[in-house]
Amino acid sequence: MVKICCIGAGYVGGPTMAVIAYKCPSVEVVVVDISVPRITAWNSEKLPIYEPGLDEVVKKCRGKNLFFSNELEKHVAVADIVFVSVNTPTKTSGLGAGKAADLTYWESAARMIADVSKSSKIVVEKSTVPVKTAEAIEKILTHNSKGIEFQVLSNPEFLAEGTAITNLVDPDRVLIGGREETPGGLKAIQTLKDIYAHWVPHERIICTNLWSAELSKLAANAFLAQRISSVNSISALCEATGADVTQVASAVGKDLRIGSKFLNASVGFGGSCFQKDILNLVYICECNGLPEVANYWKQVIKINDYQKSRFVNRLVSSMFNTVSGKKIGILGFSFKKDTGDTRETPAIDVCRGLLSDKAQLVIYDPQVPDAQIMKDISTPKFDWDQPGSTIHIAEDVVKQSVKVVHDAYEATKDAHAICILTEWDEFRTLDYQKIYNNMQKPAYMFDGRNVVDVAKLRQIGFIVYSIGKPLDP
Ligand code: NAD
Repeated sequence: MVKICCIGAGYVGGPTMAVIAYKCPSVEVVVVDISVPRITAWNSEKLPIYEPGLDEVVKKCRGKNLFFSNELEKHVAVADIVFVSVNTPTKTSGLGAGKAADLTYWESAARMIADVSKSSKIVVEKSTVPVKTAEAIEKILTHNSKGIEFQVLSNPEFLAEGTAITNLVDPDRVLIGGREETPGGLKAIQTLKDIYAHWVPHERIICTNLWSAELSKLAANAFLAQRISSVNSISALCEATGADVTQVASAVGKDLRIGSKFLNASVGFGGSCFQKDILNLVYICECNGLPEVANYWKQVIKINDYQKSRFVNRLVSSMFNTVSGKKIGILGFSFKKDTGDTRETPAIDVCRGLLSDKAQLVIYDPQVPDAQIMKDISTPKFDWDQPGSTIHIAEDVVKQSVKVVHDAYEATKDAHAICILTEWDEFRTLDYQKIYNNMQKPAYMFDGRNVVDVAKLRQIGFIVYSIGKPLDP
């Protein structure tokens, strides 16, 4: 029986390993993590992350061929394949602060693997890492172990939160990078390929050299984020001219060379990956003497920041240039629907912007815990563009001015304005007449995700602002 161990039981490690265990009953999978609460949650009824379909897959395999444990060394020691899926955030201090990936978690995992290994192993980069990381990992592994053969593979993960299980069960592609030029490298690639071949069609498993695989992940995220920033830049022009971004995106996307996906204008992209991976790419370009290429990709993040501040400015300027003391009902806080993840969610920046103009916020999100919302808004935020400085809203201001509730109607009662910041399906079908009746007048709607029916809301009496749409007459 092939033994797999995955270091890191997060948004990637947990679902990825659950699907491998589900699809390969003859493989034993143990997911390990240094976090005790996380592993306890993976072993409980309430999993640590919300992801449609995840509960069912975990329940089918847990205790049979899928295990979660804090005993890292014990399980790594006996594994044939070790996936490493630890976090690789942006460095906040020292060389490369604000751009480079912080690989300290990865390095400590690699050193531990070298320390405890008694037999040869395949070590798989599942985390997103800078191109050429495998070279450094190979050195750490071979210099810190005695005569053990390690093969390092790059197998970046392309799942999207909210659709992780569908993406894993039916992936567009699986990418495996390895040392194709050596017999050991080829054998390792084949071993990992055999695992995925249990359910992924042969033609969707792509094998490349290590550096292509590492770089492809950064490039893919940069391209996806670039599409959002591109359509968002056009949304600003739509508002200035009377064009409608939905119509423009639909017309543009009909061109098969462009395609229609990922062309929804919004208040901006979030999530733990897009910004950090582009910054990582920017840093690699700078290190390789390519400042113009670095500046090109930086602009994708700048447009995203601009989109968020443009949204806040529009809101404040529409409401007689002040929201001081006004109640704003915030609908949605996670960075996208169908996840409770709030990392880099645009809601944080929008809420901070409104608080700095002294608004009173009442926030509702169907999945994000209350404490997480309060923590996100009050935690000083690192400014990627000016390393060393942070953006901070005092904790007592947050306590006095932010309330979290568990119902969209409660969040909007007596509000002067509503702000939709996540495209949760339930926000499409709310009783907006009832909501309007219970709001202060004039009642404003600022839809940061273009989920409401603008004409219908205007008919009810709302003053509506939607991203990239003609403004209220
Ligand atoms: P996460 O923060 O949810 O999970 C990482 C886990 O690693 C944490 O539970 C942490 O406790 C654990 N960890 C850190 N150091 C450890 C160590 N030395 N030993 C054992 N456990 C350790 O992160 P994530 O969202 O799962 O992302 C993991 C990687 O996958 C990142 O590189 C990310 O860029 C990449 N990725 C993420 C997504 C996504 O949608 N979240 C998609 C594709 C790729």
